[in-house]
Amino acid sequence: MSLSAIYAGSFDPITNGHLDIIERALNIFDVVHVSVIDNLDKTSLFTIEERIDLISNSIHSDRVIVEGFQGLLVNYARKKNIYNLIRGLRAVSDFDYEFQMSLTNRAQEHKIDTVFLMTDQKYSYLSSSIVKQLAKLDGDITEYVTDYVKTKLKEKYNG
Ligand code: ADP
Repeated sequence: MSLSAIYAGSFDPITNGHLDIIERALNIFDVVHVSVIDNLDKTSLFTIEERIDLISNSIHSDRVIVEGFQGLLVNYARKKNIYNLIRGLRAVSDFDYEFQMSLTNRAQEHKIDTVFLMTDQKYSYLSSSIVKQLAKLDGDITEYVTDYVKTKLKEKYNG
């Protein structure tokens, strides 16, 4: 029996910080489902299809499954019958929100457990928002995203 986990997020766009978490999660789990939240009220730069494409082109492993989902993560987890969630922690400022989400998810479904992986120090200040701000203002994002994501960000901002 293989051990699977869900790594859910907005991934707008996927950064090297996310990729580091996925690679490290693959050392613990056999299969990692990278599940992109199709949040209808949240305005994202990239569409759900684009975000899935960016992830698929940034990580190549037959142990990674990339897909979108709508609605409550707990319901999605139930449907997939996968109860291990992965989250990354960057700083103390992430903790409150993650703690609350983790407790809420467990209150909804007691089988759910969240596995937190601490960021690599070099990605501790990295977020999708920072990458978007830098890309928009023509900053250098080479160290933060894959070449493919960098190209797609440039296309978004420069047309
Ligand atoms: P969400 O909108 O659900 O927070 P994100 O795409 O921003 O989605 O992040 C998904 C997960 O990845 C979260 O657990 C977040 O803390 C983690 N994460 C984001 N950036 C980094 C990073 N640089 N290092 C480690 N974990 C990260």
